[in-house]
Amino acid sequence: MRKNHFIANAWAQPSAGQYLDSFDPSNGEVLAQLAQGHAADIDLAVQAAQAALGESFDGPWGRLSALERSRLLMKLAAAVTEHAQELAELEAIDCGKSFKTAQADANALARYFEYYAGAADKLHGETLPFNAGYTVLTVREPHGVTAHIVPWNYPMQIFGRTVGAALAAGNACVVKPAEDASLSLLRLAELAAEVGFPAGALNVVTGYGREAGQALTEHPGVAHISFTGSTQTGRMVALAAAERHCPVTLELGGKSPQIVFEDADLAAAVPVLVNAIAQNAGQTCSAGSRVLVQRTIYEQVLAALVPRFEALQSGPPALNLDMGPLVNRKQYEQVRGFVGQAEAQGLTVAARGRIHAEASSKGFYQEAVLFRDVPADSALAQQEVFGPVLAVMPFDTEEEAVRLANGTDFGLVAGIWSRDGARQLRVARKMRCGQVFINNYGAGGGVELPFGGVKASGHGREKGFEALYGFTVLKTIAIHHG
Ligand code: NAP
Repeated sequence: MRKNHFIANAWAQPSAGQYLDSFDPSNGEVLAQLAQGHAADIDLAVQAAQAALGESFDGPWGRLSALERSRLLMKLAAAVTEHAQELAELEAIDCGKSFKTAQADANALARYFEYYAGAADKLHGETLPFNAGYTVLTVREPHGVTAHIVPWNYPMQIFGRTVGAALAAGNACVVKPAEDASLSLLRLAELAAEVGFPAGALNVVTGYGREAGQALTEHPGVAHISFTGSTQTGRMVALAAAERHCPVTLELGGKSPQIVFEDADLAAAVPVLVNAIAQNAGQTCSAGSRVLVQRTIYEQVLAALVPRFEALQSGPPALNLDMGPLVNRKQYEQVRGFVGQAEAQGLTVAARGRIHAEASSKGFYQEAVLFRDVPADSALAQQEVFGPVLAVMPFDTEEEAVRLANGTDFGLVAGIWSRDGARQLRVARKMRCGQVFINNYGAGGGVELPFGGVKASGHGREKGFEALYGFTVLKTIAIHHG
């Protein structure tokens, strides 16, 4: 399979004529050849987006009303639903997800487009009370060309939440998918063209981050950057953006805690604690990768977690097991490195999952691992593993739980398990992060719920209505009419 860029509603060969290999994580073999984008390809895509917008928002995309944009997004949502199985299969094979997980991602993608289709014509400014003789109003305008750098863990969902919101707000988009996960996004750009998006409204340039990605962050025609990925790359993107005063939204990593108090409903909590790290084989920015348990119920919780971890199975995507392979060799070696280092330091493995007999020995399969009594200052408690590895640790008091929960560089999500309403809110208000879940974790994805981090987890918000504000510029118009 050889794939080109998708620019101005047409397939475009790479300017330098180069293609890169993309691998199948279930067996390590080449799955596709992707156009290897460079600055020249990015430039073509940005020019196409500028032409779609027009110099004064009078181009074929720029002049559409909010209602017309809404209708196009609704058609795209319908097209995604119609092609959900095809998209899910592409994503499952490309990223190593089980088919059922990829199917859920395709459904979420359609829901993002529906949500932002419904929101496009409800995004408006205000009139403001001011001095006598004035009428003052605000209008929300698109930035212009927006850049979207997408990682490999949830390509469709992240595309939905950033590109869906940006298009609803009237921006024209240039997307750089991860080199390991470009296939579904190329197909989506094609579907957008088929349902009637004007040429240049949505462009996808594939390639390496250090080439195509960096060129996109440095392009003077880009007016806003949405980056989702690692904290380290996010810093480079923010620096490139700062060079030319370009606004940037950073959705970075996490080391998210779930706090289990002694009055928690354990029957409800335990399956969620397991799923929050097993989901997508732990390759989820908001994975619940630390579990803090009150000492009075510590052994009871571990006794419930151990058999569930031992039952977790990793295997080929088509088998629809708990987990697929990790996305690539680099990720596989990183996760194995964390596990090996923790074992070498004497940390205790309480349970390990299994790898299915049909999994290829050349695939990047990592079994789930449960560590207990993890010291708060260890790498396992502080750093993002981005794999199915759970760190469990005890605490005695509420104050200690809060200190431990907030005691990393990250601040993305936190979970609280307790039946005490006052404690739920008290602790939630003390969490230094962007989302808190009480007696649940993740709320099933929650397209409507603003999402983002603090500290090394990033800044800016995506999802919900909040994302629309981020993808617009607020202009104040003051009229003196006497
Ligand atoms: P990554 O290496 O930072 O890559 C993310 C994206 O940035 C990819 O498209 C990558 O392209 C591109 N990129 C790499 N170097 C670049 C550069 N110099 N300039 C511009 N773009 C560049 O992260 P990853 O390994 O793909 O994803 C895992 C990380 O993302 C984890 O830390 C995870 O927590 C985080 N993440 C966060 C969220 C969130 O919403 N908070 C969601 C998902 C993932 P290539 O792949 O081609 O290098």
